[in-house]
Amino acid sequence: MKKILLSSFICCLSSMTFAAETIHWGYDKDISPEHWGELSENYKTCSAGKNQTPININSTYASTVKHKVDIEYKVSPKDIVFNGHTVQVNTKDDSDYLVLDNQKFFLKQFHFHTPSENQIKGKSYPLELHFVNANAEGQLTVLAVMFELGQPNSEWNKLWSDLSNKENDAKDLTHTVDLEKLLPKKREYYRFSGSLTTPPCSEGVNWIVLKQPLTISAEQLKQFKAVLKDEANNRPLQPVNGRIVIED
Ligand SMILES: [Zn+2]
Repeated sequence: MKKILLSSFICCLSSMTFAAETIHWGYDKDISPEHWGELSENYKTCSAGKNQTPININSTYASTVKHKVDIEYKVSPKDIVFNGHTVQVNTKDDSDYLVLDNQKFFLKQFHFHTPSENQIKGKSYPLELHFVNANAEGQLTVLAVMFELGQPNSEWNKLWSDLSNKENDAKDLTHTVDLEKLLPKKREYYRFSGSLTTPPCSEGVNWIVLKQPLTISAEQLKQFKAVLKDEANNRPLQPVNGRIVIED
C-alpha cells in the first residue's frame, strides 16, 4: 500500500497508472494550472495549498549550520518516456540516493520543465531538471538544476537517442548515462518547503534548488520543445506566504 501511495505522489507519473491521476490536466486552456484545483477533489491542494511550488527565490536566510547535501547518483538510469506532460527518465530501484538531514532519499526519476518553474531572484531559465527522491516513509525531496543556453550537455543526446515521441512508450536506455554530468560541480543550494508542481500538488516536499546552472545547446532545448509540441510545461509562480528560504 505504501508503495502505491508513494508512486502516486511522485511528480509527473503517467496519468494512466493511478485512479487519482485519471483526471486530465495540462498547461493550456481549460485544464491549465489555474484550473487544476477545480478539476478534481484530489487536486484541491493545487488551489487551497499555502506551501506550493514553484516560487521566486528572492529573500533568503543564510544557514548558520552547514547542511551539506550529499548526492550519490552513480548508476546509469533505466528507461525514458514522454508521459504526456514531460520527458521522464526512470532509475533502477534504490540504486542512487542523496542524503539530507542524515536521511537517505532514493532517486526514483528525473524529468524536465521548459521554461524553468522556480526562478532565482526573478530570473527564469530556459530549462529546469527535477530529480525526484523519496525516503523509506515516502517523503519526497526534489533536487532542481537550472540550465542556461550554451555548450551542449554530453548526457542529453544519450538520453534523447532512445526517446519515443509516442506517449507512455517507455524505452530502455541503450547508453550509459553519467548523472554527475547532469549536476553542477558546486553544490551550494537554496532550500524551502514546497509541493509537487503537478496535480495533486501534494505539500511537505523538500525542495533543494542548486545555485550553479549547467548549459544545454539551443538545438538540445529544441528537441525537448518539439516533443512537447512547443507547449510550455512550467507551472506559474506560487505565493511564498510565510515560508523561509534557506541559503547554503
Ligand atoms: Zn517537475
